[in-house]
Amino acid sequence: MGRRLLMLGPPGAGKGTQAEMLCRAIGIPHVSTGVMLRDHVERGTELGTRAKEIMDAGDLVPDDIVIAMVEERLAAEDAACGFLLDGFPRTRPQAEALVEVLGPERALEAVVNLEAPDREVVERILSRGRSDDTEEAVRTRIAVYLEQTAPLIEYYETAGLLTRVDGVGEIDEVLARVVAVLAA
Ligand code: ADP
Repeated sequence: MGRRLLMLGPPGAGKGTQAEMLCRAIGIPHVSTGVMLRDHVERGTELGTRAKEIMDAGDLVPDDIVIAMVEERLAAEDAACGFLLDGFPRTRPQAEALVEVLGPERALEAVVNLEAPDREVVERILSRGRSDDTEEAVRTRIAVYLEQTAPLIEYYETAGLLTRVDGVGEIDEVLARVVAVLAA
């Protein structure tokens, strides 16, 4: 099983939950830009102060900021033997920067696209109650996803890295599907 992984999927597909469980199961760090950004907001850092408004509106934090954050995280020792990226890349420039950050030796080994139908994702998000989960922010996040992030599915398909997993079902059931496609 590859240990340099990426999980893609629409907001509310259950990416974060699956990513966390998979990382625990196979012992690799979970690198989530959403978690990292929310941590900055909580700690009240300069970056967090800048990012909060953008996140609450459902928009994307500028590429240079998240790219620098991920580059620093992937340079840490625990990420040397593997990692699972979650929520990054979200744009084509971020995907291209990732290729540079990883270099040929540490290139991605697999990309899992977690699929879920629209009605399912909106329902899941609205039941979560995060500060960026207002109806308007959710609508913006879905629009931003469709315009900027969904094209990455084709990008990774062309690169021969993409596998699709049905994200509808019990958490354990979906995790078993993810593990199965990665082991195949
Ligand atoms: P979800 O899993 O619900 O889609 P995340 O936790 O991944 O949400 O991200 C929450 C918010 O953090 C995003 O709506 C965006 O504002 C910001 N964010 C996270 N990752 C990125 C990224 N790679 N590029 C730009 N903004 C990001």
